[in-house]
Amino acid sequence: MTAMLEMPALLTNLLAEGSCELFREVVAASADAIIGVEADQRIVLFNQAAEVMFQYPQSAILGRPLSDLLPMEARIGHDRHVRAFAESEGTARYMGNRSGELKGLRADGSVIPVAISIQRVSAGGRPVMIAHIREISHHVQMKEKLVQLAYVDPLTRALNRRAFFERAASVQEACSEANEYYTILMMDLDHFKRLNDTHGHVVGDIVLKNFAEICQNGLRAEDIFARWGGEEFIALLPQTGRRSAAAIARRLISSVRNHPFRDESGNRVSQTVSIGAASWHGPGETLDEVINRADRALYAAKGSGRNRVVSDLS
Ligand code: GH3
Ligand code: MG
Ligand code: MG
Repeated sequence: MTAMLEMPALLTNLLAEGSCELFREVVAASADAIIGVEADQRIVLFNQAAEVMFQYPQSAILGRPLSDLLPMEARIGHDRHVRAFAESEGTARYMGNRSGELKGLRADGSVIPVAISIQRVSAGGRPVMIAHIREISHHVQMKEKLVQLAYVDPLTRALNRRAFFERAASVQEACSEANEYYTILMMDLDHFKRLNDTHGHVVGDIVLKNFAEICQNGLRAEDIFARWGGEEFIALLPQTGRRSAAAIARRLISSVRNHPFRDESGNRVSQTVSIGAASWHGPGETLDEVINRADRALYAAKGSGRNRVVSDLS
């Protein structure tokens, strides 16, 4: 208990006795880049970690504008942000978040994602802004990897069901607000068990991958395409009514039927797909209900001969 109470007192004494020396050592030893700028945004402090991060020797960067360390597209926004902070009440602020949207520019022109906190101090009566900067490339890469693992089907690279529901929920919300509609396509490869039994699982896997590619290429960027499970896939087409959705489904069916799928010896393997389509009725209907209707339409497509689309009319 006593030791804990003594700590702040010790620190206070140290600061009072040799604050300049202590400050220099702390700044020099910091693993984070520490950069100081004066009101005109000229760099007046650049520690060793900053030299490594930005690849400039201190001598080359002191006196230059801070914007030299920012990629072109970040300069205007950054300047505004720093000015607002300089005129604000607070003395410290964390800029941005850890998603990597803040960027730094190195001497060789490469751009790195960074996390920054800024602080306003007074040095000899003049305001100095101090930025503590941490490179977060590793963090950003890990995050991207985790998102991939959580949201992308490893075989087909299509979104998985979880990702589908997250994205679909926001489309449904946007459609509600804008008074627009969307259509769900449920797709199921025909006689896929037979293909596996005849040609083996490896060929089945390749057909699944090719099928997903055909759909990704045939749909728009704003459409949500996902692997529903096994040999079933789902697509949500925003701002698309029943007629256009049926036309899109017919185009996909034709692309699949005409695609030269191959077995392991390179021989052509035929594959078709059946599709059930259901368009959203409006805010009174849940996404699950639309999916159920699309599922029933798919069942009808299977029952009436496969290799076709059935649009749910109810
Ligand atoms: P239908 O036309 O009525 O849809 O018949 P089907 O044979 O396609 O349907 P069924 O549900 O009987 O069989 C689906 C098959 O899909 C069985 C399963 O082994 C296969 N399958 C599911 N996931 C995968 C996968 O990741 N890879 C491979 N190769 N096959 C898979
Ligand atoms: Mg199936
Ligand atoms: Mg099937």
